[in-house]
Amino acid sequence: MRMIRSVSWLGLLLAALASAHAKLNVVATLPDYGAIAEEIGGDMVKVTSLAKGTEDPHFIDARPSFLRILNQADVLLEGGAEMEIGWLPALVNNARNPKILGDAPRHVLMAQGIPLLDVPLAPVDRSMGDVHPAGNPHFAHDPANGRIMAAHLVEVFSKLDPANALLYEANLRKFNERLDQKLAEWARLMEPFRGTKVVTYHKSYEYFAARFGLEIVGQIEPKPGIEPSPTHINALIPRMKEAGAKLVLIEPNRPRKTPQYVADAIGAKLVIVPGMVGGHEKIKDYFSLFDYDVAQITAALKELK
Ligand SMILES: [Zn+2]
Repeated sequence: MRMIRSVSWLGLLLAALASAHAKLNVVATLPDYGAIAEEIGGDMVKVTSLAKGTEDPHFIDARPSFLRILNQADVLLEGGAEMEIGWLPALVNNARNPKILGDAPRHVLMAQGIPLLDVPLAPVDRSMGDVHPAGNPHFAHDPANGRIMAAHLVEVFSKLDPANALLYEANLRKFNERLDQKLAEWARLMEPFRGTKVVTYHKSYEYFAARFGLEIVGQIEPKPGIEPSPTHINALIPRMKEAGAKLVLIEPNRPRKTPQYVADAIGAKLVIVPGMVGGHEKIKDYFSLFDYDVAQITAALKELK
């Protein structure tokens, strides 16, 4: 009896080890890609995101744990469009993980299939400091692009784990259904404010603004990634006043002083609008990112009315 019991325990242990082993180990550079991977992968994947939602995705300080995490990755998800070019390549090269050194399916560019905004007509010299030389890489901040990323991940996961392909398909259907429903809800909440003019710190709200009808009339940064000079701010203020900007949108990682100064000078409201999952404690997944951002913006605009 005792022996049978121990055998069955051993069986359970082996089954647990096997299923733990079978999980795809997915590493995402940014939490948005990680959040979508969780929706699609469900229990079949273990997802780790390197950057925090409160950080600037262009400039991530590599923590010592990053090399170990990348070393164990079965799949690496990065945005591409040069979003992570300042910090990721050295980590990938030093992680001693040949799986993620190559191209797809194990090294995935989430920008694949997404129409990028702000693609320069002429080559941009990155040495001038512009961190968007390949077009605007903040595409995850349009929930409609979430659908493209999710479909891409179904392809990737199904290739690496064909036994669970039907499950990934089913998760995609659930994700898309919920996204369609939420997109309609967010659009309805934003509709009364269509055409509202806003100033942003960085060129990171272009996708969100295009989706929900905000008009971006200027940036506090003179170029993406370049800190503002007093000359730039002094020239910006009369232009923004004339344009009738109502809000100044900044990410949680930005300094407050200059944006607040601009907001006060033009009679606008400063609003902290996270661009990524985890940018506020209430933003735990891809859907709550937009729940939160839409709530912040509509609450600020109602106060102004
Ligand atoms: Zn950027």
